[in-house]
Amino acid sequence: MKKIPLHWKIIIGMILGIIFGFIMNTVDGGKGFVTDWISPFGTIFINLLKLIAIPLILASLIKGISDLKDISKIKSMGLRTIIIYIGTTLVAIIIGLSIVNTVKPGAGMSEDTIAKIKMKYENDAGVIDKLEKASATKDAGPLQALVDIFPSNIFNSFAEAKMLQVIFFALFVGICLLLIPEKKAEPLVKFFDSLNEVVMKMVDLIMLFAPYAVFALMANVIIAFDDTEILLKLLNYAFCVVAGLALMIGFYLILVKVFTKKSPLWFLNKISPAQLLAFSTSSSAATLPVTMERVEEHIGVDKEVSGFVLPVGATVNMDGTSLYQGIAAVFIMQVIWPEGLTFTNQLVIIATALLASIGSAAVPSAGMVMLVIVLESIGFPAELLPIGLALIFAVDRPLDMCRTVVNVTGDATVSMMVAKSLDKLHDPKPKEWDDHYEAVK
Ligand code: ASP
Repeated sequence: MKKIPLHWKIIIGMILGIIFGFIMNTVDGGKGFVTDWISPFGTIFINLLKLIAIPLILASLIKGISDLKDISKIKSMGLRTIIIYIGTTLVAIIIGLSIVNTVKPGAGMSEDTIAKIKMKYENDAGVIDKLEKASATKDAGPLQALVDIFPSNIFNSFAEAKMLQVIFFALFVGICLLLIPEKKAEPLVKFFDSLNEVVMKMVDLIMLFAPYAVFALMANVIIAFDDTEILLKLLNYAFCVVAGLALMIGFYLILVKVFTKKSPLWFLNKISPAQLLAFSTSSSAATLPVTMERVEEHIGVDKEVSGFVLPVGATVNMDGTSLYQGIAAVFIMQVIWPEGLTFTNQLVIIATALLASIGSAAVPSAGMVMLVIVLESIGFPAELLPIGLALIFAVDRPLDMCRTVVNVTGDATVSMMVAKSLDKLHDPKPKEWDDHYEAVK
């Protein structure tokens, strides 16, 4: 299999996993077999990716910043990143709202279907869990998100994978390394440089396992689908989300072409392993190490840019999620609260979906939790909330998989744009897992 490019191997794994999942759905005890004997391999893979995410952010950012030699560059990189992230997210929400208001997927849904969905999902543990998580988020004060960036104990931040706190710490260390004499900084810079190389090699090795892991992940997704009738009723809504997400990918390709002068197809080819993993894992955080490896080694973005832009993006830039939140909120209103469909409410959705996507964790179905906050901000009746979530619950997982692809692609695109604007986009130097293998074998 050595000659087959990685993304093809992953695609083959995915397709076989889907077929296997469907077969197991029809076999007696098949679901149990997948849960007990196949799915754990997907979990092991995700655990390994999460294992290296924090050391990778730390090493790559500290080394990158200490290479800058000019502190003012950090300010312009930060400012550009935030402005472009906000810009792309606004575009995503506007695309989403335009589609849902034109297609009106919720307008024709029959009372019968609504009653069926309500009965099946209103008291579902998944829906109740999302509502509980949303109310815990809402209870925090207005500046809590800012306070949360500053850690009081960095080991807690590592242990709880608090990405923004780790980024803050890495920036802090990186800047201080620039502010002390070069000779004194040298040992620590060398240490983080070496750590970065090691973790990048770990990504290469973990990716050897990716085609098998996506097989397990996809089989596990397929066995969770049981009610195809309800899925078909939600096809219009799902179509709107997928069409919006596809337009966003098109928008990124235009940005790549216009701002970095690189070929969009080349970009897609290089980033595709990260996209496929985003699809299989539904988590931009779990995909982050692979996104960083692809962007640094295969696209040619310098460490100081990718080490900052990508982890920040995985946490705060979720274009796919905000596009979905706009569509889902309006769809739910079309079905059960049409009187709320005012122009002002749609403007409020733009603002809250922007903030909600920043606040969403980069884990599966986090977007649905924050959707509750978007709905509450427009005065959506509290007693209708469980029905609202029930309406979209059945198709949430496949849509989550698709929106995570967009979230990851958006981060990669912005990292290229920021790198280009700072003259930090160079010819890539890809490294393979076995570059040095002969010597140590
Ligand atoms: N799963 C998404 C991500 O990790 C977040 C979401 O939309 O639920 O990017």
